[in-house]
Amino acid sequence: MRIDPWSSAQYENYSRLREKFGIKEFGINEWGSLPNVPHLFRRGIIFGHRDFDRIKSAIEEKRPWALLTGLMPSGRMHLGHKMVIDQIIYYQSVGADIFIAVADIEAYATRGYSLEEAKKLAIEEYITNYIALGLKPCTIYFQSKNSDVKDLGYLLGKKTNWSEVTAIYGFNGSTNMAHVLSPLIQCGDILHVQMEKYGGARPTLVPVGVDQDPHIRFSRDIANAHRLFNVAVAKDGRVGIFVKTDENVSRLLDIAEEVAGKFNFGMKRMDSYKAIYLDGASKDEIDKIDIELASREQEEGSYGFVAPSSTYHRFMTGITGGKMSSSKPESAIFLTDTPEEAKKKIMSAKTGGAVSLEEQRKYGGKPEECVVYELFLYHLMEDDKELDEIYEKCKSGEQMCGTCKKRAVELMQSFLRQLGEKRESAKDRVNEYIDL
Ligand code: SF4
Repeated sequence: MRIDPWSSAQYENYSRLREKFGIKEFGINEWGSLPNVPHLFRRGIIFGHRDFDRIKSAIEEKRPWALLTGLMPSGRMHLGHKMVIDQIIYYQSVGADIFIAVADIEAYATRGYSLEEAKKLAIEEYITNYIALGLKPCTIYFQSKNSDVKDLGYLLGKKTNWSEVTAIYGFNGSTNMAHVLSPLIQCGDILHVQMEKYGGARPTLVPVGVDQDPHIRFSRDIANAHRLFNVAVAKDGRVGIFVKTDENVSRLLDIAEEVAGKFNFGMKRMDSYKAIYLDGASKDEIDKIDIELASREQEEGSYGFVAPSSTYHRFMTGITGGKMSSSKPESAIFLTDTPEEAKKKIMSAKTGGAVSLEEQRKYGGKPEECVVYELFLYHLMEDDKELDEIYEKCKSGEQMCGTCKKRAVELMQSFLRQLGEKRESAKDRVNEYIDL
């Protein structure tokens, strides 16, 4: 089984994905202590993560951390795209340093858009909506205009090879070279925020849909491949800091000794193993040592990137079933749909209702199979109690699909109307986010 970031596959079995790819479950243990978490956390829509604990610890201790994600300017922005921006807005409120990549090179390489078309779509469809939804000023850039990103992507390519990328992405002899390079550009996106010029080595979160996990694994591998130190659990179960190169070993061990010495656990330096063993260091302490060592590596003129963390959200079901996708306009509710268009789509949506009203009164409906319920769950209902009520009334047969759809239509229309108004003023503020 392979995840293909460029296909339109739906990936429904999320626990299987977690198992197969070593993604951790994103439950209350992961985010429980954070303030005012978005409904996407509470409702299990964000279902998995890698190394989120680093981010949580940075938020709680008010240490610097970055968030980077990207948007592919192909097609119009729909509700499925809104989940990432809802998260970004939350993270912005708890201190993230936000970067958003416009993947215009990727849209060119893999979707056949010109850079000009991609630019127009990115601004009119995505960035304007992001601002209207409440994104505060942050860094948004185009891949094609950022030479740091492109250079870094190219240079990082030195420590990966064709076997690795074909194993991850399934490339073959007829894959075009721009497409072949696009994962490296995305790696450049993800890791450049840790270059000194952009804020230096620090935990970095990449919130994405699970189709992007191959890029996350690839970036993490590449980040680790360029490190001078590896802070890890050795084969014998002991935690240690290991020097990965053969040059300046004793100098590097001096640095590691100094960094680890700030903590209160036993240390044993063994130059012949190029290692310092740490006795009883906690996971959080190990992470802190790793982050500080990454900075020190940068001072030594090396890359020193902390392996990026990630979270994964579920995909929305399309109005007509399948995945919500801009290439199937009838499946998607676009943020620029008129209230009338949205109404028509919702009224035609696939529900979990029974075949007849009579049966539904008797046996109830199936909210877990209902696209209308999903609209409430993902977007229209902030209040958990109200949502529970819809669920229960559906299950018990107290509520029929007609009234339920009407409620969804009202909420959606008022959301779209307000967003449309905010978009008008957002248009004039795009230049506060991006150099045009
Ligand atoms: Fe869906 Fe509402 Fe019908 Fe239940 S009553 S199946 S939630 S539309």
